[in-house]
Order: sequence, then structure tokens, then C-alpha cells
Amino acid sequence: MHLNKIIMTNLNSRQRAQAHNQYTILDTIRMHKGISRVQIAELTGQSRASVTNITADLIKKNLIYEKESKESATPGRRRVELAINPDATYVAGIKLSSSRISCAVTDMQANVRSSVVIPVQFDKRPLDYVADIIEDAVRHCVDKAGLAMEKIFGIGVGMPGLLKRDSGVYVWKPLYKTGETTLSDLISQRLSINTYLENDSNALTLAHLWFGEGTHTNNFLVITIEEGIGMGIVIERKLYRGLQGIASEFGHMVVEPDGELCRCGKRGCIEAYTNESAILHAAERSLQSGSWKHEGANGLSLDLLIELARDGNKPLKSIFAKAGDIMGLGIAALIQIFNPEKIIFSGDGVKSGDLVFEPMKQAIEKHTNPELIKPVHIIVEKWKDSDWARGAATIALKEFYKYPFDQKVQSR
Ligand SMILES: [Zn+2]
Repeated sequence: MHLNKIIMTNLNSRQRAQAHNQYTILDTIRMHKGISRVQIAELTGQSRASVTNITADLIKKNLIYEKESKESATPGRRRVELAINPDATYVAGIKLSSSRISCAVTDMQANVRSSVVIPVQFDKRPLDYVADIIEDAVRHCVDKAGLAMEKIFGIGVGMPGLLKRDSGVYVWKPLYKTGETTLSDLISQRLSINTYLENDSNALTLAHLWFGEGTHTNNFLVITIEEGIGMGIVIERKLYRGLQGIASEFGHMVVEPDGELCRCGKRGCIEAYTNESAILHAAERSLQSGSWKHEGANGLSLDLLIELARDGNKPLKSIFAKAGDIMGLGIAALIQIFNPEKIIFSGDGVKSGDLVFEPMKQAIEKHTNPELIKPVHIIVEKWKDSDWARGAATIALKEFYKYPFDQKVQSR
């Protein structure tokens, strides 16, 4: 059992209410780069006395600090604001893909302090093998950040697949074989650090909600494009998981009955037209049929296909356009259902850029009622390799924010 669960079980109702108030205040400070006590009281609905007491404790614990605001309501009068101490804690994030492990160490505000990407062909390896590599990656990253292992509060692990969050067991796991033990147990045992497993797209969505595009947005969707097409749903500032915790498998929504075979076993899923391997397969087929010629020494890669399509290769352009078209069809359905404020596209696959997103936008317009499209902001993120691991780290940070008084805190 995790330390946090033991702590919560032992709290009486008054202490629970106190813990909730602390969390709400700390969370409000996190959402603003600097905020006064008066503003905190207004936003949280708590009394000024309660805010004063709790923030005094937070300052004493080094979780937050006082800073002077540049703007003051009264000229000549100093206005004090409160801000999160980024060095109060550190966490590690791990993202597993079929061909690599990414690891990042972040501070309390999810700033990446160090990161590493290790190429690994998992190829259905045993769970112990995966845990060994994760242990090495975390130790390396912590060292690179100039920290000691004792300073790491927790480890978040993000991976593709359908994860039942309550049991930590995968319903469908494309990466590795599992037995009775869960991966989080194996990592916790090796490093003696609480470890939290999460679907990778949900982890990235949480990072947007807490520290990114979604910080001040109540309802939004995140679409992740890499080997798989993932999705995270935020409704009224909460991650939506569904009955079994396996909601939002947007990539496996069927848009063409009896269409292309998908790796999940069904036919005609969105992913079967839009992910990297779908585009590579379609390009290979069109090359073999003689639609275009490739004389380079190396095989096909997504980067090469993007380059050729941008140079005017029409058959390739139409493959990317088909991907955009299918994606747009799916997104139109999401807009009709969710009426979101934002749809954020993340992941390595965003590098296809306008080749996919222009036809996608046209398809969205074609298939969505105009009044629903108008308020939606479609955001294509500038992607960094460490973003996935940072997302996973946010899972551990979320746990820290919930129980900050029970943890070891680093001074500023
Ligand atoms: Zn599928």
C-alpha cells in the first residue's frame, strides 16, 4: 500500500477537511504565478483567517514563498504575493514506447531539470527487463539533475494501452508481457519510491491541465499522435476516465466499417489511417504499385515522406490528406459531443504539420455544425522529446500536491 493511502485512512473528518483546504489553497497558488492572500480567499471561498493560517504553514514548510508584486493597488505600498517554491520537491517521469524509454526529472512546477531518451526494442520483453531499464534511466536522470535519490518524491509512469487504474492492471497492453505483479510494484521495490502508473495520453493531458494550455480552461481535449492515437478528456477541470478507467480510446473508434486492419484487431479504426505506421504502410503500397519512385539508399521513414510530400509528391500528399480527412471526421464527432473550448494536438506526429492538419480542418468544417466549431481553439503544440516524460512526472506531482504536509520538503 502506498504511504499516501495509509495517511488518508488515518485522518478523521476534521483533518480531512483541513487537508482539502490546504490542497485548494496550494492548487490556487500553483495556477497563478503570483497571487495575494486576499485573492486566494476570494477564489477559494475560504475565510481570510484560514488563508493566513494555512499559507503561514505552507511558508514554514518551504512549499511556497512570499514575493513582492511589480504592480501595487496603492502607490508606494508593497503588495506581497505568494508563489510555489519550485524546489520544494522533485519527481521523475517515465514514458514507455515500443522503441524507447524517455525519462525526465522535474521540480514542483513541472520544469524539466534533466531528461534522457533510451532506445529500447521492447519486443514483448518480460516485465523485470522493463523495470531494470526504468531503474537505470531514473538513476541516470536524477544524477544528471544534480540530485540525490532521497529527494525524489515519486515516479510517474506513462504508457500506451488500456489501464484499469484501480488495480494497475492493463486490459490490453501493446508493450510487454505481464504476470501477476504490476510494473509500479517492481519499480517501487527497486527504488523504494512510490510509483504511479497511468495511460500516457491521460498523463500528458494532466500536464496540460496543471501546467500548460489547460491551466485556465475548464473543458478541453488532448489528442496525442505517435505510434498510437491517444486522447485525454477534461470535463470541468477533471480528467474523465469512464466506468473502468479506460475511456477516451479515440484512436480505436471505427470510422470505416471493414476498412484497414488495426493493431487492436478491429478494422477501420482512426489509428489504422493516421498513425506513423499506417502512413508508412500506405506509402510502401503506393510505391510498390508504381505510383511514385524512390531511389535513395535508405528505407522509408516518416521524416522522408514528409519531406517528399512537401516537395510536391502527389501520391504521398494524398496519403497525408487521407489521414487528415479521417482525423477530421473523428474530431468533428468529438466537437459535436463535447463542445470543448480547446482541442490540443501533441506528440511526435504533429511534425506532419499542414500536410495533415489542413485537410483535417476542412473535414471538421464539413462535418460539424457551424455554431459548435466557432468557439473551439485548435492548438497544434510545438513538440519536445521530453514532453511525454514530463507528462508522466505530473502524475507523481499531483500526489505530492494532495499531501504536501506529510512529505519531506526541500528548502529554497
Ligand atoms: Zn483499433
